[in-house]
Amino acid sequence: MNFVQDSVAILKENDYKITGPRMATLEVLAKAEIPLSAYDIEERIPENIPINVVTIYRVLEVFEKLGIAHKIHTKEGYVRCDFEEQEGCHYFAVCNECGKANEFLKERCEVEDFIPKDLPFKNLKHLSEIAGTCNYCSLSTK
Ligand SMILES: [Zn+2]
Ligand SMILES: [Zn+2]
Ligand SMILES: [Zn+2]
Repeated sequence: MNFVQDSVAILKENDYKITGPRMATLEVLAKAEIPLSAYDIEERIPENIPINVVTIYRVLEVFEKLGIAHKIHTKEGYVRCDFEEQEGCHYFAVCNECGKANEFLKERCEVEDFIPKDLPFKNLKHLSEIAGTCNYCSLSTK
């Protein structure tokens, strides 16, 4: 699995063009270890690629809609999805210290089962965040 290639395939499947800003943002997200804001992403894009924060916001909105990236609300930043095009619950364990967001997937959980069957929704995706201190940080502070 390759995040950039898989994401390009998803963009094409959904009739989105492969633009410079989209590619540059994908490259940054592919390498990122922590959730990034549009400003963080702009800083990490090479100087020779003309791009501004407003454009990056639009790119991120598209990525979020297509499930390429997720918004981590506790960190107000975006991360790549490690389980692109997989249904189920996308969970994040977010470290309060270093900001690392580890994604894990559960096929189903109580929340989906709780949603009334006649609710007019399809392609439900469940996102959830759990905050805490990662092993690395809890060891290094003791
Ligand atoms: Zn995901
Ligand atoms: Zn769920
Ligand atoms: Zn940590």
